[in-house]
Amino acid sequence: MNALDLFATLVIQRCRVRRAEYSSLPAYGALMKASLIEEIGVVSSIICDECSQSHETRVVYQGEQYGHYCPDFGFVSKARSELIATQPNLSAFVAQIADGLTCKRRKSSPLDKDIWRIGALESHAGDVVIYMCPSLQHAQDVTDFQSAVTNEIKSPFGIMLTVQGTLTVPPYVTARLQDVLSIDPITGTVVVIENLCTIAGVPKQRTGGRPNDYRKPLGDLIALRASQGRTLQGRNAEAKALQAEFKAQHPNAKCPSLPTVRKYVSEVRSGS
Ligand SMILES: [Zn+2]
Repeated sequence: MNALDLFATLVIQRCRVRRAEYSSLPAYGALMKASLIEEIGVVSSIICDECSQSHETRVVYQGEQYGHYCPDFGFVSKARSELIATQPNLSAFVAQIADGLTCKRRKSSPLDKDIWRIGALESHAGDVVIYMCPSLQHAQDVTDFQSAVTNEIKSPFGIMLTVQGTLTVPPYVTARLQDVLSIDPITGTVVVIENLCTIAGVPKQRTGGRPNDYRKPLGDLIALRASQGRTLQGRNAEAKALQAEFKAQHPNAKCPSLPTVRKYVSEVRSGS
């Protein structure tokens, strides 16, 4: 089990589980090192491993000893070390993601129980707010989320990071932790490996769009000069003439540079 799977497993089991069940895994050590899990006190109940009933039984402390009662064997003592509870440290987890993404609008306490606002990312189309919501499996989970974010600033885009379930609350998008994060197996550091803005549906910003702005008029101009037999043989000379004519025709447009025009002439001539 890798560190992320282990973390997800512990998040799903919201109640505290025994350290003894997972502490032998290498990933457990990594999560401890990164403070992504914490050991607090002892569990309140365990499954009896003394008899063949596998019944759940309450942990008690009596006569300076921890243990539990079994119908067949009476009081069964247990070493405290076997009963240490472990749980995910969502506060540390949320902070690590917010640090990694340099989020703004961070919040260091939960909005409600296990629902957190990690923070928001800026995009050219508006903020992308990131929430942590461990379960989005049942209608009640959606209701819980909606009530937790009632007073939140509305963002045009959002991601609900979850561990189980695929329910969603539009316009926000649900993404499983297991699909967008990785946890370093040695240091336990959380790394976001996917582009959350893209997943949230932020439209791609047009980059390198400027050449297209003059492609059409420049192409028309080349065709016009050719139809009038005015095309110059030299590539450089033709580019200069084109540039001058482009400027005259489109005095208010930003004129492409000479190398760009020359490149375009080459493209047209090579038929590409
Ligand atoms: Zn028993």
